[in-house]
Amino acid sequence: MKQSFAVIGLGRFGASVCTTLVETGQEVLAIDRDEDRVNEYMDIATHAVVANAEDEIALRALGLRNFDHVIIAIGEDIQASILVTLMAKEMGVQRITAKAQNLYHAKVLEKVGADHVVHPERDMGERVAHHLISKNILDYLELSEEYSIAEIRIENHKFVDRTLLDLDLRQRFGLNVVAIKREGTKLIVSPSAEEMVLLDDTLFVIGETVDVERFDEIMN
Ligand code: ADP
Repeated sequence: MKQSFAVIGLGRFGASVCTTLVETGQEVLAIDRDEDRVNEYMDIATHAVVANAEDEIALRALGLRNFDHVIIAIGEDIQASILVTLMAKEMGVQRITAKAQNLYHAKVLEKVGADHVVHPERDMGERVAHHLISKNILDYLELSEEYSIAEIRIENHKFVDRTLLDLDLRQRFGLNVVAIKREGTKLIVSPSAEEMVLLDDTLFVIGETVDVERFDEIMN
């Protein structure tokens, strides 16, 4: 279903969010106080306007509260990002996603009403680091402080040509296999216990981060 989004701040992060939402067919209002940035996104976003988001009257005039989702992608100006999040919340915006620069910023954004806080630099750094230290982990996403989902390539012969039942990753590692990616085959989602793991399959596993790391080490 088509949803309406307002993206405030067209830096690298906001611009990328805006472009991707438009590509997936969503309606996007792009807002920035910098006229050059707005001009760049005039033809990409559904609407693009020059406005200072710290100006409450301007935000109300844009009908911010009528959007399904507001993304606050103001980067360096932490004070502005907090103030705008607070104002969006007070206006009754349904869903607010805000970008944080650091942990303290994230905590304040949550306190003032952000429904979802993202740390793109930190998250991407973690993903790249996991990819660098492990030849098996292709991608990695932290779901919470304890849990992660990881894409792990199976090259270790001990794990190949055996069923999930036989491998018993749940008992042995506390991991659940949510999908299997196999060359030339459709993604196998929620595989059954009888599904066979083949050489060079990629398993999408979910579990405690420490268990994902333990599983990865054993395969090296
Ligand atoms: P990134 O790290 O994602 O590149 P930046 O800090 O470079 O983020 O960019 C943030 C964007 O937000 C800039 O284009 C800036 O003009 C815009 N911005 C900052 N404060 C406001 C504000 N009060 N109102 C509207 N836009 C703002």
